[in-house]
Amino acid sequence: MSHFDVVIVGGGIAGASLGAEVAAQRRTLILEAEVQCDYHSTGRSAAFWLESYGGEKVALLSSASRAFLDSPPPDFAESGFLHARGAVHLSDGEWPEVPDGVQARRLERVELEQLVPGIRPRWTKALLEPGCADIDVAGLHAAVLRRFRQRGGTIATDSNVIAAERRGDRWIITLRDGSTVEAALLVNAAGAWADPVAEACGVAPLGIAPKRRTMVQLRVGRAGLRDLPLVDDSAGTFYFKGEGERSVWLSPHDEIATDPCDAAPEEIDIATAIDRFEGAVDWPVERVERSWAGLRSFAPDRLPVYGFDVGEAGLFWCVGQGGFGIQTSPAAARLAAAVLLGDAPDPMVADIDPAIFAPGRFAQGAQLRSS
Ligand SMILES: Cc1cc2nc3c(=O)[nH]c(=O)nc-3n(C[C@H](O)[C@H](O)[C@H](O)COP(=O)(O)OP(=O)(O)OC[C@H]3O[C@@H](n4cnc5c(N)ncnc54)[C@H](O)[C@@H]3O)c2cc1C
Repeated sequence: MSHFDVVIVGGGIAGASLGAEVAAQRRTLILEAEVQCDYHSTGRSAAFWLESYGGEKVALLSSASRAFLDSPPPDFAESGFLHARGAVHLSDGEWPEVPDGVQARRLERVELEQLVPGIRPRWTKALLEPGCADIDVAGLHAAVLRRFRQRGGTIATDSNVIAAERRGDRWIITLRDGSTVEAALLVNAAGAWADPVAEACGVAPLGIAPKRRTMVQLRVGRAGLRDLPLVDDSAGTFYFKGEGERSVWLSPHDEIATDPCDAAPEEIDIATAIDRFEGAVDWPVERVERSWAGLRSFAPDRLPVYGFDVGEAGLFWCVGQGGFGIQTSPAAARLAAAVLLGDAPDPMVADIDPAIFAPGRFAQGAQLRSS
């Protein structure tokens, strides 16, 4: 049986980023059920960085991650992972709002029509958030996995964890093929499978709920779309952004409760997306070039969870990254690593209180005390 200090279940952006931060100090193994670490949510995102997304507490992590994503150190990557795009938040009612500190300004109608030609008249108010950028997710994930390996980490793909038992101060972790691995600390970074993985380890679940989101790549009868801003309905019914010269990535902003699974798009959600798109702009829809779906997994308060389990000190949670797991990953990994290692916080997250994201907030009585 192999022995490790830390075993991380899940090689998506969450597990890989945390692994890269701890591997130099602890013998660390990532166990990934699939043959590719980006098979699930990490490989299916809409790939943008949007500071206002997820509310003010998530924005702390997004903002703290920005400089690293924009210009990472040369030993991490040769170039940055962000490409400026800007976002336009639309409203047919009240002015859209963004969390305090997020740079945004109201758009005049004429500016809106320049940025989004063909925008329907019903969108009477619009806010521009210029900082929005595309993220090279594949490049970022590959760089994180590379750093993990460079720092001595081991990755085992096709390694599905089916059970773990605490014996004294060690975990005995069993894989689907019957093999076992021993570790002092287990990190749950299993994305949509966070609760089932906890239960397989004899640990109480936190209520991490996977929600399906649909994406459609749409070919439209209009050119010059590649650098179109991210355009969203501030009431949360759609968003789209330029992809190719005549194509967009579009989502109906769906959030459909589901069991953890290999998510696939449903016809009705694609049709809903197109219907809402046609209500936003007057561009003729030509065809669906491709579509996909992925799972965004949320804790009950929709904040991510980083920290030791309240009942089982040998289990560390790194879950609930919802729709912001890529854009928050550099800061989230540093914050989580400092807690896990018992180190002083990294300067990137020195101003962020890790208690905001600690699992203890769900412990019995915690809500009563804070209310
Ligand atoms: C449509 C869509 C659009 C999105 N857009 C954005 C965006 O624009 N910007 C942004 O920042 N975020 C976005 N997100 C969210 C982002 O993709 C997620 O927050 C992030 O990928 C979560 O990473 P993860 O590592 O937790 O999950 P995952 O990438 O799903 O990784 C978890 C891994 O755990 C593995 N696993 C599970 N159970 C086991 C087991 N028993 N044994 C071994 N391995 C196991 C799984 O195989 C999986 O690979 C989007 C998500 C979706 C679905």
